[in-house]
Amino acid sequence: MNVLVLNCGSSSIKYQLLNMDAVPVVLAKGIVEKIGLTYGSFTYKPEGKDKVVAEQPIMDHSVGMDLILKALVHPDHGVLKSLNEIDAVGHRVAHGGEYFSESVKIDDEAKAKIKALGEIAPLHNPANLKGIETMEKLLPSVPQVAVFDTSFHQTLPKKAFIYGIPYEYYEEYGVRRYGFHGTSHKFVAEKACRILGWDITEKKIITCHLGNGASITAIDKGKSVDTSMGFTPVAGLVMGTRAGDLDLGALLYICEKEGLDLPKANNLINKKSGVQGISGVSSDFRELQAAMEKGNEKAALALDVFCYNVKKYIGAYAAVLNGVDLIIFTGGIGENDNLVRWETCKNMDYLGIQVDKQKNEVRGKDTIISTEQSTTTVMTVTTDEELVIAMDTVRLS
Ligand code: ADP
Repeated sequence: MNVLVLNCGSSSIKYQLLNMDAVPVVLAKGIVEKIGLTYGSFTYKPEGKDKVVAEQPIMDHSVGMDLILKALVHPDHGVLKSLNEIDAVGHRVAHGGEYFSESVKIDDEAKAKIKALGEIAPLHNPANLKGIETMEKLLPSVPQVAVFDTSFHQTLPKKAFIYGIPYEYYEEYGVRRYGFHGTSHKFVAEKACRILGWDITEKKIITCHLGNGASITAIDKGKSVDTSMGFTPVAGLVMGTRAGDLDLGALLYICEKEGLDLPKANNLINKKSGVQGISGVSSDFRELQAAMEKGNEKAALALDVFCYNVKKYIGAYAAVLNGVDLIIFTGGIGENDNLVRWETCKNMDYLGIQVDKQKNEVRGKDTIISTEQSTTTVMTVTTDEELVIAMDTVRLS
């Protein structure tokens, strides 16, 4: 069974074609970028063949998807003989609100709900829906499945998702903590338990998904009970360019001082903040570390702030869970950055956390990095959100 996985943003489409017959294999992947601008770019990498890159105007999502489908069946670099070999399409959908606690096969009702949720996820859900509707036109007989970033966190108890604002904003507008990166948190927790031979329903786990966007989740007996992102993905940890937790009064003060309107304030907290904003150097942790090694104090401070934040959330969630059996690091930073893992986990022996410096040298592998004496197991686990989407798509289509 071949599954096309799509992650449609407002101006980009990330895609992967996977064969799911036995061990899942990625047949081709790539990205369409700068949709709607004068020059868009199209990247396509078929398994075992050279990458194809093209720069051309890509007017809208349907032009972008057409490019993807044509590349997949291209006589030279295609990986399929015909589009009939695509058996199902899986879509990453950012917001499932309170409607979706599971992935779902797309029908009219699902589309209506995804559309309604565009109200609280205006940057993501309309683009996700556009992807779904375009695929319905291009591949009308192929089943489609939606996999939501928020679903896994629908088990949060009310005390963890209600904000300290008038209750009617929850009732009227759905303003509450939803949490994101759910597919990744669930995937790495289950994968780690399989590797360790543990029954997830008996364990207390903290998953740290640290990438450009970063979030931490407390998982009790396999269920998400708290998570650091909120109503939007700007909450929680200081991230690459997102502010994370911030005194709301400070934001109001800055807006007043700088005369910022809502779009500008939004841009400030989403695009200009985080480690990029603190350091003035980069949002990329490799560049931050290079700058720190050359003596850049603000880069060092940004890294310090980031690790301190991760540590605080681990402490908070250890309290929420009344202990922790396993801490998992995943995402581009979590999987690769041994310095972040070390700085985060050091001096946490009170919680029974002890990382082995040598084991921690690992990059991009599933590895136990805690010492034999550590009562909490600490692991790096590679995530694969596309694979989760493909697996759910196979299950539901
Ligand atoms: P996204 O949220 O876009 O999916 P990723 O999970 O791909 O992000 O993580 C991207 C980030 O991972 C980069 O910004 C970079 O800071 C970090 N990263 C990737 N590789 C390394 C590495 N080898 N060492 C340190 N940081 C890394």
